[in-house]
This record gives sequence, structure tokens and C-alpha cells, in this order.
Amino acid sequence: MKTSLLSLVVCPNCRSGLSLASEEVEDAETMTGMLTCNGCASRFPVIRGIPRFVGQALNAEKQATAAAFGYEWTHYSQLTEADKKEFLAWIAPLTADEFKDQVVLDAGCGKGRHIHLASRFGARTVVGVDLSDAVEAAFKNTRDLPNVHVVQADILELPFRNPFTLVYSIGVIHHLPVPKEGFLAITRHVQPGGRISTWVYGKEGNGWIALFIDPIRKNITSRLPRWMTRCLCFPPAVVLYAGLKLLYAPAKSRPALKRCLPYSDYLCSISDYSFAENFWNVFDQLVAPTAYYHSREEVVDWFATAGVEKTSIERHNGNSWRGTGLMPAP
Ligand SMILES: [Zn+2]
Repeated sequence: MKTSLLSLVVCPNCRSGLSLASEEVEDAETMTGMLTCNGCASRFPVIRGIPRFVGQALNAEKQATAAAFGYEWTHYSQLTEADKKEFLAWIAPLTADEFKDQVVLDAGCGKGRHIHLASRFGARTVVGVDLSDAVEAAFKNTRDLPNVHVVQADILELPFRNPFTLVYSIGVIHHLPVPKEGFLAITRHVQPGGRISTWVYGKEGNGWIALFIDPIRKNITSRLPRWMTRCLCFPPAVVLYAGLKLLYAPAKSRPALKRCLPYSDYLCSISDYSFAENFWNVFDQLVAPTAYYHSREEVVDWFATAGVEKTSIERHNGNSWRGTGLMPAP
């Protein structure tokens, strides 16, 4: 944790400032320490360089899960041009130029790919937040970036003042227990006049998932030990990979073939993915205990309820929604 984060964080319980007592410092970052609330004296530990606002230090089971995900994290530590293209497609019509000098919040930063990009796009400060142990990877993947902070916290109880001029949340809100509540919680952290951007699964264009995949995810794969789900993901990942390379990749330059294939917008867009990327895509679909598929109407309602102005809500790849807009200026 960099000391400069102190000017951005507050106690999630009483909104007072926090004081940092460092125990172990490495390259000017507090690796082990304690944040104490100046108001209510709540304490939040800094463990392995990351401030933890999740109630407790990681228990043994969670540490084991973290170790099990080592492969996925290492894999995603390498940023590719495809990652950049994909990120820009999720946040469009927002562009890379619009990150310049912004104070950015990535609500649900996962392994930190997008905070890396936001920093590269010229943001002044980028804060990545995630509830899961993926913060361990996000921290490692962005350690060399002096303007990036990683925080473990719940989107519904974010421990921040209101410093953010650009807040985005990609592929996260649909995994929250009450997605609209999550969206509204995030928008409360955007400064007046600042921008909010989000991408969520669409109800439209995902009928087959609701019918076939959702029951398997809810009743079986999200309840199994992770290692078992990983094994089960292997056969469908092989089939998907073969289909993408043999049909959808060629279809990109053959419009007649593309018209014949189901879900061609989406599947053509991921046809360049490596096997590992496909595998983790399948895994993500099957492992989440909660996943909603939102209609355009719902997404429009979230933005309207939050009072977002100049809203743009577009369909992406035929099966998801990307929305952006500005919070009312003061
Ligand atoms: Zn407090």
C-alpha cells in the first residue's frame, strides 16, 4: 500500500479518515501494517501490500484458493493488444484519450488487467477494488505502476471519499446479489460531472445460457470444489476452441458463413483467443454462484435511477450491454 492512498480512503463504517501504522515496508510500499479509523477506531489490516476492508484477514481456506488460482493469475499477468481492444470495446464510446488525468476507480478489478490499461492511458490515479482474492494478482500485476492502488473491499461498502472522476465496472455487476443496488453504490462514488461506465451480460441474445448453462452452473459447478470445476471445464473448452478456430475465425472474412453460424457476433469476437483464455472464459461462466442476465430495460432503469445524464446504452456483440454517462454537474 502506497502512502498516497491515505488521501483517498475513509473508514467504511463512519467515513472518518484513517491512520496507517506500517510494520513492514518494501520499495516504499507498506506490505504489512494496520489502518485505524480516526473516528470509530475500527481497524483494517494491510496484508501482502493490500489494505483489506473485508472484515477479516484471509483465512486458511481462502489462502488455499488463492494458491489454486496461481496459474490463472500468472497467465493474465501478460497484457496483450487483444486485452486492450477488448477493454476499449467494453467501455465504448469512451476512448483511451478520456482517461488522461482522471482519477479512476475500477469497481471489480479482478486480476488487474484493466487498471494496468487505465494507467497506461494516462490516468492520474487508478484504484482497483475487488472483493475476491484476485486482488493478490492485481497487486502483483500492477506493482511497478506508481499511480495504481489495489484495495480489497466490497462494492456495496466502498471505503473511499468521493475523489473519482471516472468509474467503470466491467463484468461485475451481474455477479452481485442485487445488481441494481451495486450499480447505484458505484455511482455514488463518481464526482459530480464525472463519468460512469459499465458492461453487463445481456438477457437478449443469451437465451441458450439461461436454458442450458445456468441450471448447470447454479446446481452443480458453482457448488463443486474449484479443482473439480476446472476438470469439468476442460472438455467444453476443447469443443469451444475447435469451433472457434475451425468455424468462427474463418467466418470473420466470410460473411455468408458468418450469417449461418449461431451467436456469430460474440463468437467471432473471441475467435482469436488462446486456448487458456477460452478455458478461463468457460470456467468463469460455470464457477460463479450468482449471475444475472439483464434486459436493456433494466440497464436503462439503473442509469435513470442513479440520475446519470447523457446516457449511452449500446448492445455489444449481440449478447451484452455497455452503458456510460455523466453524473450531473454541480
Ligand atoms: Zn470509523
